[in-house]
Amino acid sequence: MAELNVLQMSPELHEARWWEAEANGKVHCYLCPRHCHIGRGQAGFCFIRTNHEGRLYSLGYGAPAALQIDPIEKKPLNHFLPGTSVFSMGTAGCNMGCFFCQNWDISKSRQDQVNARDVRPEEVPLLALGQGCSSLAFTYNEPTIWGEYIIDICKAAKPYGLKTVMVTNGYITREVFHDVYDLIDAANVDLKAFTENFYGKITLTHLQPVLDTLLLLKNETPVWFELTNLMIPTLNDDPVETRRLAEWIFDNLGPDVPLHFTAFHPDFKLRDKPRTPPETLHRARQIALDAGLRFVYEGNIYSDAANTYCPVCGITLIERSWHSVEANHLKEGKCPRCAAYIPGVWKAA
Ligand code: SF4
Repeated sequence: MAELNVLQMSPELHEARWWEAEANGKVHCYLCPRHCHIGRGQAGFCFIRTNHEGRLYSLGYGAPAALQIDPIEKKPLNHFLPGTSVFSMGTAGCNMGCFFCQNWDISKSRQDQVNARDVRPEEVPLLALGQGCSSLAFTYNEPTIWGEYIIDICKAAKPYGLKTVMVTNGYITREVFHDVYDLIDAANVDLKAFTENFYGKITLTHLQPVLDTLLLLKNETPVWFELTNLMIPTLNDDPVETRRLAEWIFDNLGPDVPLHFTAFHPDFKLRDKPRTPPETLHRARQIALDAGLRFVYEGNIYSDAANTYCPVCGITLIERSWHSVEANHLKEGKCPRCAAYIPGVWKAA
């Protein structure tokens, strides 16, 4: 991981998309299911969409607060260009209110509270290529809330053959979904729990819109996507809940969507819970495998379940240590022993 040296400058005001004017100078932002109604001089829940004189502006546009080079496995994506580097960007703000946020220094900050840099969309592919990256990731905070910037970056990146990745909570409206995801190649979606109680109390949002986004990804796009479930002791690690989550994925998204169970560490407002014991992840993984999911991983711990195994003959296909690929035995996307097809994007086209 390398911090990039980009000159710090003040971002200019960029008018947002996906809003409509209301009475008394208010605006309605319909980018995400919060549907904020924002008064003059106010910002939406996400901090970075603000009403200036009756129009909505995107303060995150051209103003990333984090720029880093990561392994693609850190997103996590295990079936998408394994072993490659991804140019990763994030801004201030977020449209969820997760008490356990692990990037709260930027996600819970306003634009004027972060060390933002001025990076025009057309600069991004050149920075990424200069760092040897195969793809761009919109990550760290919730990228949906800076969708205008993402769209322009994707348009600038496509001529260079760079792939594009959303690391997202899936909280986006149907009205906007295709505007963004028609330009995206892969996504990791946080399915943070499988109860409305957890979403309501711990993330200050709702479960159903996230499930709706997963169905859109599955049924209306070719986007390669994987899921992450961060397991927090006593809050979302009940085996009954895990079974329901895995069965919903199997029934609605199919057996080939990779699922990552990852370990929690105390952070932000959730410091009274312990780290997730490895046994919890092992148990969850077994439940998901028993439910019929074929690619189930464990993350944020050292585990053999970071490897990819052939679901037909059982041999190890990709060996990983933490976020590093140690060996990749796939032959043109197939198992070298039994020739089973392994779903994923294994080569940049
Ligand atoms: S994107 Fe931000 S301003 Fe728009 S509805 Fe969601 S939280 Fe509110």
